[in-house]
Amino acid sequence: MNKQVPRISDIQLPSSVSTLYIDSSFLPPPSHPVSSMAFAWTAIDPDGFILESHYNNISSIFPSALRLEVFALLHGLDSLPQNSTITVATDCAQLLSLWSLYVDAPFIPKMLKESNHLLWSSIHTIMSQKNLDVTLVKVPAHADDILNNHVDALAKAAHTDSQLSSRPSLELLAPCILQFNSLPVDMNIWKFIRDIFDAKSLLTLAVLPRFNSYSSTSDIDWACTKFCLNNNKQFASHRNGRSEFCGFCIKLLLDMLSTLTTLQRRKPHLYNPSWLCPQCNSSPETLDHLWTCPYILPEFSPLNTFKTLLLALRTNCLDKFLSTSSLIPLPDSFAAEFMALDCWNCEPPSFSCLKLARKLIPISLTEFLGNYFSSLIIWSTLDTPLHDFHFDLYVQIWLCRSIFFHHWELAQGITKKMKSSALGPSSIVYPSSNIPLDSLTPSFTGQANFFKMS
Ligand SMILES: [Zn+2]
Repeated sequence: MNKQVPRISDIQLPSSVSTLYIDSSFLPPPSHPVSSMAFAWTAIDPDGFILESHYNNISSIFPSALRLEVFALLHGLDSLPQNSTITVATDCAQLLSLWSLYVDAPFIPKMLKESNHLLWSSIHTIMSQKNLDVTLVKVPAHADDILNNHVDALAKAAHTDSQLSSRPSLELLAPCILQFNSLPVDMNIWKFIRDIFDAKSLLTLAVLPRFNSYSSTSDIDWACTKFCLNNNKQFASHRNGRSEFCGFCIKLLLDMLSTLTTLQRRKPHLYNPSWLCPQCNSSPETLDHLWTCPYILPEFSPLNTFKTLLLALRTNCLDKFLSTSSLIPLPDSFAAEFMALDCWNCEPPSFSCLKLARKLIPISLTEFLGNYFSSLIIWSTLDTPLHDFHFDLYVQIWLCRSIFFHHWELAQGITKKMKSSALGPSSIVYPSSNIPLDSLTPSFTGQANFFKMS
């Protein structure tokens, strides 16, 4: 019988209340380390006298200016007595249009795609429990409405008022509340579920052995890596050879580029497992070796090209971060500390530098930048320089190497037809019996004349 109805406001306004002015103030980063969210309302009687005013902060989950407006409305309505007829004055046009969509109408499932649907649903519940008759009106912005200015000033004051002890309860009155790790999911439910599944598949990808062969997957910033993969312009356009570049990027990330070691694993009958890098003949041609191969020709030196491109990337990123507004002022040491990060160390290339080459963003880089910039700023600032860096790696190292490699294969008598054959070694007839299967790798160095001629 006496079931306690949860309340959001602990204020009980007198029945003479006729108008509520509501407003809010949202200070997102970088002005505050975390979003500061404050709201206010002022209750007026029919003679225009202020009955009561209230302001407070709310928890910064799902931070947005609109959420605050909706919450100010919810808190104001929950402070009203039963059976009130009330006019709510707001300068937020979006609040009015959402009100007519979701409150002035029967429940529609589309509301679950709306941010703050739990707040809207709670407003619905309060309206029917208290039998409220509510009309929303728009106060023209900058119209010098004294009461609107008053409530606006109150909301702004809440940010700095140290007297505010307890925040209003975020007890929601919605009939059905979806929670995730005890956090009410007050956002587009479809998007939320999609994000969860995205995160699960990213996790499945991240634990693949190919990502932790030489160091831990926790050294990689997976959120940033995913952002740069999804956001990259290379996936937007498939024209002008971009689809080949797109394929290169995916194979690079997954270590599926057809380097000699990959080919030796796949077709040991064609590529003798003892062969070393055809260019330098000093190490197996792995993915990392593409960038560290010490082979030097006047026009082509993978390691030197890699170093040049990596340092250009460092300069490019540094310039962009120096001209981006930061959460806190950048110290004088910022540039020096940024340039000293391990991922730029290419003498010889460090693990995190090789990760960067593989499109995996080292966490040491984003953690350092995280002291000064928000995640989204870091990701979107790194995105374009990284894209350009990988495009240069593709053109200046991979394509050049692939042309060399193609000629080297021909010189070994490995033809396109043999490569595409699904048959095993027993059915392959080597075109020439003088291929030294067990001897030293037939290397480019011995074939310089061949390239001069072709
Ligand atoms: Zn080499």
